[in-house]
Amino acid sequence: MSRTPSPRTLADWQARAAELSFESHAFIDDTFVDAESGDTFESRNPATGEILAQVASCDEPDATRAVAVAREAFAGGEWSRLAPGKRKKTLLRLADLMEANKHELALIDTLDMGKPISSSLGDMAGAIGCIRYQAECIDKLYGEVAPTGEDALALVLREPIGVVAAIVPWNFPLMMTAWKIAPALAAGNSVILKPSEKSPLSALRLAQLAKEAGLPKGVFQVLPGFGHTVGKALALSMEVDCLAFTGSTAVGKQLMQYAGQSNLKRVYLECGGKSPNLVFADCKDLDRVASHAAAAIFHNQGEVCIAGSRLLVENAIREQFVEKVLAAAENMQPGDPLDPQSFMGAIVDEAQHRRILDYIRQGVEEGARLRSGGQALEGPGLFIPPTVFDGVTPSMTIGREEIFGPVLAVFGFDTEEEAIAMANDTPYGLAAGLWSQDIDRIMRVTRRLQSGQVFVNNWAGGDQTMPFGGVKQSGNGRDKSHHSLEEYSELKSVWMSLQAN
Ligand code: NAD
Repeated sequence: MSRTPSPRTLADWQARAAELSFESHAFIDDTFVDAESGDTFESRNPATGEILAQVASCDEPDATRAVAVAREAFAGGEWSRLAPGKRKKTLLRLADLMEANKHELALIDTLDMGKPISSSLGDMAGAIGCIRYQAECIDKLYGEVAPTGEDALALVLREPIGVVAAIVPWNFPLMMTAWKIAPALAAGNSVILKPSEKSPLSALRLAQLAKEAGLPKGVFQVLPGFGHTVGKALALSMEVDCLAFTGSTAVGKQLMQYAGQSNLKRVYLECGGKSPNLVFADCKDLDRVASHAAAAIFHNQGEVCIAGSRLLVENAIREQFVEKVLAAAENMQPGDPLDPQSFMGAIVDEAQHRRILDYIRQGVEEGARLRSGGQALEGPGLFIPPTVFDGVTPSMTIGREEIFGPVLAVFGFDTEEEAIAMANDTPYGLAAGLWSQDIDRIMRVTRRLQSGQVFVNNWAGGDQTMPFGGVKQSGNGRDKSHHSLEEYSELKSVWMSLQAN
């Protein structure tokens, strides 16, 4: 049997891209359909400006229909009451199909939102790994027998919640999707996915694979469209039991209001960040630390929730360290997203491109020192080079707000106390990094950083076994690990009185 060779070069990926066709319909009730209104929106490749597809633009009527279908599927029990071991088999089949189609899925994300193909391939490993992990967990998750007297037997049962709406962003389209849908489906819920309007295409390909894997009708549906239309309709629905959201803090706050205005559905939020990366003067290999510090912000064009966007450096080494960061950043210039050598790709769309350039302008106006980048590259395509500001202070806009682009703000500090205070001086609490050789300092500082995750002498380390999420205004949920699986189930307490003979 002949196998198509894996694409390795820019030319290989270009050839694959030329052959690609896209599913662009909504997936409702096991069928690919137009939006009820017939409306569509454009999906564009931000690296070239090319229109890839006209995608069904769902709205309230489509949400209402999909929710009814999901509710019926849940009540029917073909998935929700299936033995966990059988759900596991179907999800493992889905993971295998994703694996067999991983180059196509990665290519779709790269074309749709501009990220480098090397990064998209990494996302596929993360997405497939997540589905396998959650599938494997589900038949190992036990309920409890509570400690009672002999006159009772008390059980704590875990049951699926019902209809889960997953609303996801565009920066890691398929991986963020998997982090939501894998535990929600594994736990037995019916899931409606609303991908970002900026990157809807891989979710629709995933729907084709889910159907092929044998997920029962109505258990997984995909509604492409805008946040203020179909997203809002799902969030306000009286028949959606849980919202699983990844996106900005501003929208996360709206979703909590929608839940309050409707049925008090559970709302799990994974929101934004302005993550501090602390470098102490006792580090041995400053070149290594500097290249990690640069990658922490410039990976995926800085469009990363846990981007290490605030670099806090002990003043004793700051001058020399910034030089090293600039040298590392020089090797991270954006290039054709289809080129496996490109470290950075294109910015997702014109609005985000404008927003990043606006922040850069404000940084200059407020007196930060621009040390590299700062100007958009000549088109076609939306590219911004690694941009480094030194001498940033906590009151500057670029030192406070999430930019979600390749812009690094460097701060100086003199003492550990000052570093901790500066690191925590933010409404966010998603990630923090800490580089030092002093184990006492590492333990002291780690405990005091207000953050969902702390990376010690690395940035962004972790795997499926580790929960991922934030504190403060970075959210309240946890993706990955068995903790996320628990979030998608309800506890039912059963107290059984035992009759004395
Ligand atoms: P966004 O909040 O603008 O949109 C996220 C999703 O919400 C999209 O699908 C969008 O259509 C939808 N939406 C928008 N308005 C809505 C409304 N009123 N009702 C319902 N849905 C609505 O965020 P974005 O620009 O897509 O993504 C970038 C943000 O996501 C950044 O803040 C980033 O930090 C965050 N993010 C967080 C994590 C994490 O795990 N914490 C991971 C990735 C991205």
